[in-house]
Amino acid sequence: MLTVTPLPAFDDNYIWALQVAHIHGAYVVDPGDANVVIDFLDQAQMPLLGVLITHHHHDHTGGIAQLLSHYGSNTPVYGPLKENIAGVNQPVSATKNLQLHNIELNAEVIEVPGHTLGHIAYLIEDVLFCGDTLFSAGCGRLFEGSPEQMLASLTQLSNIVDSTKVCCTHEYTLANLAFANAVDPSNKQLRQYTEQAQQLRAANTPTLPSSIALEKAINPFLRSHTEEIRNSLADKFQQPIIDNVKSFALLRQWKDNF
Ligand SMILES: [Zn+2]
Repeated sequence: MLTVTPLPAFDDNYIWALQVAHIHGAYVVDPGDANVVIDFLDQAQMPLLGVLITHHHHDHTGGIAQLLSHYGSNTPVYGPLKENIAGVNQPVSATKNLQLHNIELNAEVIEVPGHTLGHIAYLIEDVLFCGDTLFSAGCGRLFEGSPEQMLASLTQLSNIVDSTKVCCTHEYTLANLAFANAVDPSNKQLRQYTEQAQQLRAANTPTLPSSIALEKAINPFLRSHTEEIRNSLADKFQQPIIDNVKSFALLRQWKDNF
């Protein structure tokens, strides 16, 4: 039984804390700011069991050094083998059988290039930590990878069990939903979710975790192959949309300029 807690950091990041029933302590995911983590653990009077890193951007890695000096340099810090990140002492690549130190839990590491080339996601029981790859109602910008790579990465994530909780690292949901409604205006579930998300944000409550089932229903970047999205793209770009990669690339381009 896992518990996940989003710890707000910077303007719109979440550092996720992961706790396992009957185990004292927590893992944290993408600690861009060490003080946020230390405050949380101090208040809960818990030790830090380990760190999971999804990709090299500073807002995800900036707290590693301070956490290692505060909790000890033997604290396990997992991170992508393909990215050179200071402080990562457990570099990992795609595997279904990662044994996490201190918690006897099995994690699956999924390689999801696109936002960065070495970006990884962690699937631990029914929880997915996907960094800046899949957001609620959106996806990460393509800083390093190609549309083809990102589409393949998102397709891998969309094939995970529907009930899986999606823990992404930014509260971008309302801005993503504004775009989603513009490109997928006849999607009723999208409209319902937009109302829910607006209420949550008005109460300063996180919209996350989301779920794979919800994202498949409302996220235009998981729906770029559908007739609805393709029709919107054809209207917007005044050209026939004939393949999935082209459809995804134009959708990402539209969002970048939205
Ligand atoms: Zn990033």
